[in-house]
Amino acid sequence: MEKYDYLIVGSGLFGSIFAYEATKKGKKCLLIEKRNNIGGNIYTEKIHGINVHKYGAHIFHTNNKEIWDYINQFSEFNRYTNSPVANYKNELYNLPFNMNTFNRLWGVITPEEARRKIEEEKAEARIKEPKNLEEQAISLVGTTIYEKLIKGYTEKQWGKKCSELPNFIIKRLPVRLIYDNNYFNCKYQGIPIGGYTCIIEKMLKDVEVWLNYDYFEHKKELEKIAKKIVFTGPIDKYYDYRFGKLEYRSLKFETEEININNYQGNAVINYTDFETPYTRIIEHKHFEYGKSLGNEENEETQNHTIITKEYPITWDDTKEPYYPINNEKNNNLYIKYNQQAKKDSNIIFGGRLGTYKYYDMDKVIEEALNTLRNEKII
Ligand code: FAD
Ligand code: UDP
Repeated sequence: MEKYDYLIVGSGLFGSIFAYEATKKGKKCLLIEKRNNIGGNIYTEKIHGINVHKYGAHIFHTNNKEIWDYINQFSEFNRYTNSPVANYKNELYNLPFNMNTFNRLWGVITPEEARRKIEEEKAEARIKEPKNLEEQAISLVGTTIYEKLIKGYTEKQWGKKCSELPNFIIKRLPVRLIYDNNYFNCKYQGIPIGGYTCIIEKMLKDVEVWLNYDYFEHKKELEKIAKKIVFTGPIDKYYDYRFGKLEYRSLKFETEEININNYQGNAVINYTDFETPYTRIIEHKHFEYGKSLGNEENEETQNHTIITKEYPITWDDTKEPYYPINNEKNNNLYIKYNQQAKKDSNIIFGGRLGTYKYYDMDKVIEEALNTLRNEKII
């Protein structure tokens, strides 16, 4: 009765890797995707010679050689290194927080001077056990950096006061006492030459894919179509919110083409004040390392550029759930869904939304490969 071995819901990185490996091993897969395009949030589209990251800047980075080798079989990567710049009321600072940032903020030259300055500010704040993000940030980097580079950005990003946010969010922000603007502490980093969509196209080359096809709109027809379902959408929605709703943060992207060669001189500029309504502007051509030097470049992209402003917005059922909000309340709720999932032997949840985890791409690949091992497919 079942026509397929696997019905895969979602063509993001998780669903596409699963479909690729399972098909290679002779499993019959059907992949459905509610959007008009494959790739999920890593989808890129070539517009007038520039690969546009349609769902926000995506920089691949990992310390795991197995994962780096895995993704490199689908594409060559350039040597782009993420070095975002922060704009606080027209003062520009290098990120992540490093000696260039400290020099610009305080005029300090040596790491020892910078360390002392941060210690001084921490001591003044008199925080013993940080209880929230504000206290955690101040005890990590002092008050000046918190006020100029963290507070406004974080409150816009999460829609809550820093004093009401959990500590863990800020743990992602690296602090360094060396002159190094490389954002990621990773051995391997880059952007696929030609964009991410080519990778997904290769993965799905031999897979039956139905676009504009939402699982929830066709649930009845789909229930018996496959022996197992691999679901990469929101787990709470799959179970019709039976234990309650998980919370997410959404985004609005505003993309425009401008008739200028070089708009901002960097791929990513963060706006860290509270008043600017967007968190960052990305200029897509600068992701293509070596192609855009800001003065001379290939004819195709010489006279124009494409930028995207990223606005964090409140999530509701009508918006895309981009970020899980992993606070204690939501994590406890997720545990209930996960326990339910473990009882249902014909469904596998995967990816950022299926497992309600703030996963980067490398972690999603790792998780997909582990799932395939559990299924004894690889
Ligand atoms: P997704 O890409 O979300 O794919 C899920 C797919 O399922 C979507 O295409 C969706 O349309 C589809 N779907 C959902 N419900 C249904 C349904 N009912 N029916 C049919 N289809 C459905 N990671 C990095 O490593 N580096 C970065 O620089 C980075 N930057 C990021 C920036 C932003 C703004 C965001 C939001 C994420 C970023 N990430 C980054 C994380 C990265 O996007 C994810 O790790 C990865 O894309 C997750 O893949 P996925 O397959 O789990 O989910
Ligand atoms: N952050 C900040 N200022 C910045 C950039 C980031 O305070 O200029 C904080 C913010 O709280 C954010 C977290 O660091 O939510 C992680 O940011 P990052 O850009 O590393 O993660 P992403 O949003 O890309 O997942």
